[in-house]
Amino acid sequence: MTRRDPVEGGPVESSDDFGGVPDGMQRLWTPHRMVYIESGQEPERAHCPFCAQPGMNDDEGLIVARGEHAFVLMNLYPYNTGHLLVCPYRHIGTYDLATSQEILEIGTLTQTAMRVITEVMRVDGFNIGMNQGRLAGAGIPDHLHQHIVPRWSLDSNFLPIIAKTKALPQLLGEVRQSLADAWPS
Ligand SMILES: [Zn+2]
Repeated sequence: MTRRDPVEGGPVESSDDFGGVPDGMQRLWTPHRMVYIESGQEPERAHCPFCAQPGMNDDEGLIVARGEHAFVLMNLYPYNTGHLLVCPYRHIGTYDLATSQEILEIGTLTQTAMRVITEVMRVDGFNIGMNQGRLAGAGIPDHLHQHIVPRWSLDSNFLPIIAKTKALPQLLGEVRQSLADAWPS
């Protein structure tokens, strides 16, 4: 839901406008959101985080890797540690609107992300996919994004069940840094 400035009528930037897909779960930490709140910067297209984040530096924008047509970023609302998103730079809503160059690079970035995650974290599996349209579960339906969710055999703990809360063992910024460091240049 976009909040409006009561005077200007334009969308108000908030941490919720950045980088991810809310899933109704609360997290035990919010330090990265504080960075955005304190920075007070107004991205050019604050209404679309996936258009705004490539304009930031990697650390600020939670960007892991940049390709020519697509880029990789941390999901601000991770289902699991190391939950990445692969987005085309172009503001397109669905996969059928992607060019063959974008499809190719989303695919190769996804492969590289799997290899890097596997190298950095010892994963047992992945969930990969695109939700298209709000009806299908896309949190930001206007800008195509592919989820890469690493899975561990022990990653289901009791917290989501009893408290709708996920305990994430590493902060987003730290995970971003370790994945970016391991990304092949
Ligand atoms: Zn966009």
